[in-house]
Amino acid sequence: MLKSFDVVVIGAGITGLSSAYHIKRMKDELRVAIVDKKTTSCQGNTARSSSAFRNLFSSEVNRKITQSTIEFYRHVQFELGFDLGMHINGYLFLGDNKFLGNPTFRRFVDQGMARYVDEESLCKAGFRTRPSDDEIGLMNLSNIEGGLLGYECGILSPEKICEFYVSELRKMGVEFFFGTEVFPPSLQPETKLDYPGEPFIWQRTTLKSLETSSGSFTADTFVFCTDVWTDGLLEKMGIDGHTRGKKRQVFQVTGPGVLSLLHNSFLDGEGLMPVTILPSHGIVLRPEPQSKSIWVTIAEEYNRDFSVNEDTQPEPEFYERGLFPVVVAYLPQFRDSRVTSMWAGHYAYNTIDRTHYVFEDKNIIVATGSSGSGIMKADAIGRVVASLYSGRKRTTLYGGYSIDTSALGVHGRRVKEEEMVI
Ligand SMILES: Cc1cc2nc3c(=O)[nH]c(=O)nc-3n(C[C@H](O)[C@H](O)[C@H](O)COP(=O)(O)OP(=O)(O)OC[C@H]3O[C@@H](n4cnc5c(N)ncnc54)[C@H](O)[C@@H]3O)c2cc1C
Repeated sequence: MLKSFDVVVIGAGITGLSSAYHIKRMKDELRVAIVDKKTTSCQGNTARSSSAFRNLFSSEVNRKITQSTIEFYRHVQFELGFDLGMHINGYLFLGDNKFLGNPTFRRFVDQGMARYVDEESLCKAGFRTRPSDDEIGLMNLSNIEGGLLGYECGILSPEKICEFYVSELRKMGVEFFFGTEVFPPSLQPETKLDYPGEPFIWQRTTLKSLETSSGSFTADTFVFCTDVWTDGLLEKMGIDGHTRGKKRQVFQVTGPGVLSLLHNSFLDGEGLMPVTILPSHGIVLRPEPQSKSIWVTIAEEYNRDFSVNEDTQPEPEFYERGLFPVVVAYLPQFRDSRVTSMWAGHYAYNTIDRTHYVFEDKNIIVATGSSGSGIMKADAIGRVVASLYSGRKRTTLYGGYSIDTSALGVHGRRVKEEEMVI
């Protein structure tokens, strides 16, 4: 059966939900549908995320889209009273003086976004700031001579943000089609002649309909929020998503030592350890207060191929042989810990400047390339999608910030390469 809408959003992860929400908010009379191959929302990479957020980015556009998204989430949790599991527990980057002295960090401090933490305070908090010479030599570690603590940073629950958007979307009358796999479409002639071999090179083309496992969908506009699956969906149409997938893993670790670290607060009033980035290799420790655990993760660059595997599995030996020895060198409290859960997903990398692509081609809008920070930018990205849809040249973000709608596009893109990808 043919289903007809004004807008069909493909992907019910956080990007698709936010995009549909802002399109519908802009124009209530629109008939909007969201389709996803999974059985419910938030089952793709959104569910695999470590879901930490920060406004500490080297590029201005990233600072704006994170800051505004964080302020929107704050509004949802603290003003609307919809619990997002949000904790403003900070982000703590650890390293030697050379690392901490980089100009980007200094700028964060000058602008009141972060402060330095000295080595003595870190020792008191339980960090072993000086690993042994053997550890330093073997694992290429550096000493911890201090830290940089970001304020407007923390953690939240991706499922809960999705719940928020879904409940609003249902109230607004947006229709959901789950268990609906979209097959890679081809462009169709705007005016069909019914000659064999259409569309010909001289015919104007558009995306008129999508074939799915649950029948056809027609719409005036199709919005692809399909993360690492975007290139595969677009390629028959000859449209490039400019994004490559890479596997990422999270290991949930618990134990008495881990528990002793969890409430090592550096920010007044939070009582929860900050998201902590260990020196040298960028291992991230993300507290998870509910399960009284710490999630250990890393976005390693080399010897991890670009590929997407639907059934990607975590590798216990990656933790045991790779992450664990480094973590223990700085935090011996992990010695008696054990992994109680683990999972894997993918980052959708923009391999050039590591920031989203949000662009329009024909009647297709694409939002992809989140490069490991799609949760903390999702609300702003949804607003950029809505602006593209309605032809607005400037996008007003939550909190009064604004960016050029085309800044995250492909042509005329204005994004500096992001240095702070973790
Ligand atoms: C291990 C890990 C840790 C991360 N940590 C963080 C973090 O701390 N902070 C942060 O901000 N970000 C983090 N990220 C990144 C973040 O999770 C993503 O950027 C974000 O979830 C992307 O959301 P999305 O909606 O674009 O994609 P997804 O959530 O993947 O949604 C895409 C949807 O498209 C659907 N889909 C795909 N193909 C089809 C098709 N053919 N037909 C129908 N439906 C289809 C999928 O089923 C899926 O539901 C992390 C990611 C991983 C993997």
